[in-house]
Amino acid sequence: MSEKSMYEKSLDLFPPVAGRATHLGIVRGEGAYVWDEAGKRYLDFASGVAVVNCGHNNPAVIEKAKEQMEQLVHGGHNVVYYQSYIDLAEKILGHVGPDYKIYFSNSGAEANEAAIKLAKQVTRRPGIITFKHSFHGRTLATATLTASNAKYRRNYEGLLPSVYYAEYPYASRTGLTEEQEVARCLNQLDEIFHDLIEPEQVAVMILEPVQGEGGYIVPPKAFLQALRRICDEHGILLAFDEVQTGFGRTGKIFAYENFGVKPDIMSLAKAIANGFPLSAIVAKRELMDQWPAGTHGGTFGGNPVACAAGVAVFDLLEGGLADHAAAIGAYFKKKLEALKEKHEEILEIRGLGLMIGAEFVDHEGKPDAALVTAIREKALEKGLILLSCGVDHNVIRFIPPLIVKEEQIDAAMKIITESVEESLQAVH
Ligand code: PMP
Repeated sequence: MSEKSMYEKSLDLFPPVAGRATHLGIVRGEGAYVWDEAGKRYLDFASGVAVVNCGHNNPAVIEKAKEQMEQLVHGGHNVVYYQSYIDLAEKILGHVGPDYKIYFSNSGAEANEAAIKLAKQVTRRPGIITFKHSFHGRTLATATLTASNAKYRRNYEGLLPSVYYAEYPYASRTGLTEEQEVARCLNQLDEIFHDLIEPEQVAVMILEPVQGEGGYIVPPKAFLQALRRICDEHGILLAFDEVQTGFGRTGKIFAYENFGVKPDIMSLAKAIANGFPLSAIVAKRELMDQWPAGTHGGTFGGNPVACAAGVAVFDLLEGGLADHAAAIGAYFKKKLEALKEKHEEILEIRGLGLMIGAEFVDHEGKPDAALVTAIREKALEKGLILLSCGVDHNVIRFIPPLIVKEEQIDAAMKIITESVEESLQAVH
């Protein structure tokens, strides 16, 4: 009998909650490619969900991590200090600004937990405003903040109290102009403040500057600027979840730089160390300084090897990788827009940098998740890994490593075009 594949073995080993977007078992990664058990090569336009921004096994990142591994694998940030921990903090804060401090942890959800705890501790207020279509994690507190699908909350009673769900602009869905859409969302926020919780009782407003799982939705600048004004007026802290948008993904090192709006607290994870588990919150110095020592912490936060990898990531981003993401993202988006012109089933191409989404609808203009699944499956057969997102699962997200080259975009475009055309023929 032939040896079982990794997928077949996984059925015995893991609960279904570890369900995968593909059945691929991969054995090696390099740059924009991964290889499966049978030796087949794939272009990875999912990047482990926006993690390997510098490319799989980036040599500079691996080198830095190896050097660190030979010196010290664990220090314990509750116990001692170590060089890579200091170095990465200095790099990130050097970019964000001298009026911020940083706290390291291990995952995106954990960073968001820290953001909420810090906000509540400092403001002594109970309320949290989160946004519809959002994703902030799957721990109990972050599942409460997540409003992109009810499945994340079902049967998990005992979620956080005093959480309110505000509207996030999605003009292509509502059919309103950008200006009307921003007004609609701000009116609903006013209603929350009038009907449900006074703004002076709200500790923090947390949102993704570009929504990820919700469908790669880019809000108008005016919306984020209005939120900044409202927060300042009422002493509410503004927290950006940059877990998916951070580290060059949107063509800037952090997404907030696209909008001219700076948050009080920012959550970072995913691409921070190009695959090594690490996360952080960056928050205003005056907030961090009020956090009573020891009331928040964790054993593994800021692992030396992960921090060393993070230093290499940041050097690459500052050395031109974020700019490359902006330029190649524009090249890719133009090609996707040309494809959209040929197919009315592509409702919209949107995004910033290399965080690009394509929303698909049926001939009645309704979200078409089946079409997206068909396109993804065909693309996979042809050697391209794609992921979906969106509250109706009808958006394909294109998130290649930022080191992706023009010829790799061209190769992916050929597969995308064929997969779209063949899937539409199958439907019609
Ligand atoms: N926030 C955002 C915006 C995310 O996209 C994700 C992961 N998809 C998370 C938080 C959770 O991060 P993690 O899986 O590392 O806990």
